[in-house]
Amino acid sequence: MDDNTANGTPHTNGEPTKGNLRKPEIVIVGGSLGGLFAGVALKCHGYNTTLLERTPENLLHNQGAGIVAGGDTIEFFKRYDRTGKPVAVPSYKRLYLNQQGDVIHEEVNRQNMTSWDLSYYLLRANYDRVDSPYLEGGKLPEVRPTDGKVTYRSGCTVTDLEHQGSKVRVHYKRRQNDGSEVADSIEADIVVAADGPSSTIRAMFEPDVKRKYAGYCVIRGTVPELEVTKAAHEVFAERFCFFHAPGIQNLTYTIAGEHGNTTPGHRLLNFVWYANFPEGEPELEKLMTDKDGRRRRITIPPGMIAWDAWEMVKSMGHARLPPQMAEMAEKTKAPFVQCITDVITRKNLYMDDKVVLIGDALAGFRPHTVASTSQAAFNVMSLVDWLDGEVGRKQFVKQTMQYARGIQDMGVKIGDRSQLETLPMEEYIKDRNFASIKREDRQYPEWTLDGLDDI
Ligand SMILES: Cc1cc2nc3c(=O)[nH]c(=O)nc-3n(C[C@H](O)[C@H](O)[C@H](O)COP(=O)(O)OP(=O)(O)OC[C@H]3O[C@@H](n4cnc5c(N)ncnc54)[C@H](O)[C@@H]3O)c2cc1C
Repeated sequence: MDDNTANGTPHTNGEPTKGNLRKPEIVIVGGSLGGLFAGVALKCHGYNTTLLERTPENLLHNQGAGIVAGGDTIEFFKRYDRTGKPVAVPSYKRLYLNQQGDVIHEEVNRQNMTSWDLSYYLLRANYDRVDSPYLEGGKLPEVRPTDGKVTYRSGCTVTDLEHQGSKVRVHYKRRQNDGSEVADSIEADIVVAADGPSSTIRAMFEPDVKRKYAGYCVIRGTVPELEVTKAAHEVFAERFCFFHAPGIQNLTYTIAGEHGNTTPGHRLLNFVWYANFPEGEPELEKLMTDKDGRRRRITIPPGMIAWDAWEMVKSMGHARLPPQMAEMAEKTKAPFVQCITDVITRKNLYMDDKVVLIGDALAGFRPHTVASTSQAAFNVMSLVDWLDGEVGRKQFVKQTMQYARGIQDMGVKIGDRSQLETLPMEEYIKDRNFASIKREDRQYPEWTLDGLDDI
């Protein structure tokens, strides 16, 4: 078979899309960053897309979180953003603190920090022209005649995919204005599954692949930069600041403030605090039981943590963190918690190449890799190259799967070293620098290629 032709479906890639044949109709499942990356890039390349997102509201809730913007995230916005609004705040130095709050190591190292909400609103502006205060200083993108058509459908939960010859029928439950749900479906040539680490689509093809708790959680929150002490501002403003102790890692950095405001004085300081909560221990039960008494499996969203759980967390902070970091936990108004999990699927193409898994649906990385958003951006840029015939199928599979396998494995190793071992500081620094190697410069172990020819 021609390497540029997807399993007998001539529309999915290669020459046909460059010639007179119509471009495939694409359904995207999931409207967070991964799904929107897909929507924006495919639109720019002239593909018609329909995006189905299960959240009933037109806009997803602000996750109130910083994201370290990796190389592919920055590259994606360079290629496709038409708002002209900066997506990142730079950090110029990495600092390491001891428990007394003294700087014990520093390195000059530029890194870009963005936030979930700024990235989300810029992508929505680029996809379906959603206007918002996040565009201040930029503009709502113009419509180009070469753009593909876009449709964003909220309140649509995909439940099943049905293989119908050269097409896929996507079944979903559509929420109506009165809150009731009706069954609906749509036909697609290609389905892009961007439905996250608990992916429904992945579960259809790989029911045995499950998210596994890694034994620790991340406690997160933000504080306006003007509300912290001078001692905290000095180490967090435009810095990437770390602290390591047995069972603990804390990193804090500057992100854009309200509506994406990157002006000094208006930004937020964002903390990410990993702490061990072994499975079965009462502390984990306490942490993950929300203020309404419901035991949450993976996430306690902002505003939902129970008072006594938060008191427990803050006193842990005072006992074990440098004072600047304990101060952040004390001052944040909407902390949230996520259990760290591992998940990776065997392959990313299903139903004769008509279904493609991307982002966290393909591989949920540990956050130490700071690569999850970049993975979604990279998957999408690779997908577009394949659909446009710029790279062959083999190359698409190799580059996306090798990256998923290599980074997922690295995340487990450096996460376990950080949380479960007690190492000299140089080792943590080495791991951090290893995680920062650019994708294009990274060497992957041989096993990451195993079996890829058979996909
Ligand atoms: C608080 C927070 C902080 C983060 N920090 C970082 C960071 O520092 N660095 C980094 O690289 N990454 C970070 N990430 C991860 C990053 O945001 C994700 O990796 C990135 O958004 C890609 O995820 P995704 O779109 O593949 O999946 P998700 O973000 O999980 O989105 C999946 C979407 O699919 C929808 N969905 C699920 N099932 C269905 C269904 N059946 N039908 C329709 N819709 C469905 C969900 O409602 C959701 O909107 C963070 C994520 C969060 C939430």
